[in-house]
Amino acid sequence: MPERIETESRKLLGRLRRALAEDGAGQERLDKIVELIASSMRTEVCSIYLFRDEETLELCATEGLKAESVHQTRMRLGEGLVGRVARTRRVVNTADAPNAKGFRYMPETGEERYSSFCGVPVQRLGETMGVLVVQSKEAREFTADEVYALEVVAMVLAEMTELGVFVGEGAALSARHQNPVLFRGSIAQEGASAGQVYLHEPRVVVTNPIAEDPEAEMVRLRAAVDQLRMSVDEMLSDQTAVATDQKQVFEAYRMFANSKSWMRRMEADVENGLSAEASVEKEQSLARTRLGQSSDAYMRERLHDLDDLSNRLLRILTGQGGDTGAEVPERPILVARNIGPGELLEYGKTLKGIVLEEGSVGSHATIVARAWAIPLVINAKGITTEALNGDQILVDGEQGIVHLRPDEQVQAAFSDKIAMHTRAQERYASIRDLPAETKCGRVISLHMNAGLMADLPSLEGSGAEGVGLFRTELQFLIRSQMPKRAELSALYARVMDAAGGRRVAFRTLDIGSDKVLPYMKPNDEPNPAMGWRAIRVGLDKPGILRMQLQALVRAANGGPLTVMFPFITLRSEFREAKAELDKVIAREARLGNPLPSKLELGAMLETPSLGFAAQGFFEEVDFLSVGGNDLKQFFYAADRENERVRRRYDTLNVSFLSFLEQVVSRCREAGTPISFCGEDAGRPIEALCLAAIGFESLSMRPASVGPVKHLLRQVNLEELKVVIDEARDNGAQSVRRAVSDFLVENARLNGSMSGGRIT
Ligand code: PEP
Ligand code: MG
Repeated sequence: MPERIETESRKLLGRLRRALAEDGAGQERLDKIVELIASSMRTEVCSIYLFRDEETLELCATEGLKAESVHQTRMRLGEGLVGRVARTRRVVNTADAPNAKGFRYMPETGEERYSSFCGVPVQRLGETMGVLVVQSKEAREFTADEVYALEVVAMVLAEMTELGVFVGEGAALSARHQNPVLFRGSIAQEGASAGQVYLHEPRVVVTNPIAEDPEAEMVRLRAAVDQLRMSVDEMLSDQTAVATDQKQVFEAYRMFANSKSWMRRMEADVENGLSAEASVEKEQSLARTRLGQSSDAYMRERLHDLDDLSNRLLRILTGQGGDTGAEVPERPILVARNIGPGELLEYGKTLKGIVLEEGSVGSHATIVARAWAIPLVINAKGITTEALNGDQILVDGEQGIVHLRPDEQVQAAFSDKIAMHTRAQERYASIRDLPAETKCGRVISLHMNAGLMADLPSLEGSGAEGVGLFRTELQFLIRSQMPKRAELSALYARVMDAAGGRRVAFRTLDIGSDKVLPYMKPNDEPNPAMGWRAIRVGLDKPGILRMQLQALVRAANGGPLTVMFPFITLRSEFREAKAELDKVIAREARLGNPLPSKLELGAMLETPSLGFAAQGFFEEVDFLSVGGNDLKQFFYAADRENERVRRRYDTLNVSFLSFLEQVVSRCREAGTPISFCGEDAGRPIEALCLAAIGFESLSMRPASVGPVKHLLRQVNLEELKVVIDEARDNGAQSVRRAVSDFLVENARLNGSMSGGRIT
């Protein structure tokens, strides 16, 4: 940075600091600022334009243009050179403004006399609040150093709280922070809720944008960055507590924390008169602007990391914790990047919903939310950057969707949805104790999927006959160390107890793939979904499998026990797993411990290969459960976590249905019960088709039991089967259209249509 500009910029900021420290507020201060900038930069004009609303900029202060035009001259976003700066969030610097792209002549300001124009966006944390402009008669381009000085001043301006005063409520916020935004996340706890945003970690408030003593400020900045680096190193060195994906994030943090260019830019800002906090925020603002403009998912992730890191640095510098005293709104919906269970418990049950930018279904926080039955959406990417305290927010936990600042139409539709949901819940409750008996007299068994103790209360309310899939790995995932056998046994006993004699199919550990135990050595595999996971781990590490089986046998305490092995691909894998159970049983018998009164041992069919196993396999298992989520991913070679490819392949595609039908018929031949426990079992239309092709038992999320039962009770599955067969014979790729048409007609005949929907 050349010496001249360094001192100019510092000088300008010094004068600005004095001006800001003087009494007076509002317009007076803005007038002083523009006058000061114009004289310091030796330009005839300096003006500040601020957003009046999300589309309109208003001239709020000027030195050099006609005074009468203040608060009169307005322009649309994108209109004229000022509008161009606001829209593109980029500097416009030209020696020949009248001939520059987008120039608009504004006679009321007397602007035509000025040929040089330099406009910089006034932005705070990626929000554009307005534009700072200097103009001069002399035809010259402003030097890079002058532009830099202007940007620094714009940064200070952005910190001035009174900016909002001039241009009406919310005008200091950018268009971006006023628009409705929809986030598609993942479902962690069902339910629908409307309320206001309550940020877990509100933005850090910077109150001192200008440094009093740049040398001292530099020392503060460097000390804070050192502290930041140390804390990131500590996070990383605590290997046992860090899961692989978290570790990657920390690695990225470390990279940024040690980035020389990041440090250099902040040091230059401080040298030029900004406070340490303002220099961090200036960089953060830049990153946020780039974040908003980048379509590259990887880049966006990295910019997010930098954003997070900047927040940490700001907290170190300001000593501000999470509690900034923001008022708790009437219906608080907690918005956070992630949250620990302890922190969540502190908020208490007053929360009406939770939205996390990260999170996971197996996290502690999810357990708490489930236990409270508070709608929770996770993986809502970008929400912490977009949401502001008090914003209206709608959480749709049924679909994993969040509407931030919804418009009236969406709000109305959501209220309808909540009302419909309530009515539907009443309807489902009324049939809760009735069987899922179809019009043709078949009775389908409906079970629920679970994985945590907190899920069990849903058994009663949902009307499920039992637990068709208990994902035991969730208990392992939420711990920081491997649970002991006695702990597990006590837990399984409590689950059986809570099920009150109803069948619970315990699936042995399905770890690997996306389920990485924090306390197990991470396994660096190129393709973990097809890697060392589930029963493969169990057979290679039989100690863990045996420990779990022993815990299950002991929990049964002489009562019935149902166990299934995940991801069985070969008949031999089932046999080996069964042999482990036999050993456990023999040992328990030797010890004189009670043995299960009835033992059902099943396999999960999650790979196509098992569908083609020898017929003997279908005879030797006590039951089969189709894990449709994995099966579909391998059947179609489409990653279940990758929406882009997953969406392409329909469950009701004839090839998939035909495969399933073949498996059902092989089970029938062997007299072996078969059920379906993937997500599709909980989708009413898919569930009907599965029942139509022969599944007698389905296991699903608790919230799906009601809707699936309701629809099953209205349909004749024999008729539906004819529709499916006809569509298939006619060469349809998917039977969905034919089935939907049939259902609409069926509902019309039954008089159960409302507003074009099947109810
Ligand atoms: C499945 O794959 O369908 C299944 C039920 O198991 P998970 O979703 O736990 O892999
Ligand atoms: Mg699976």
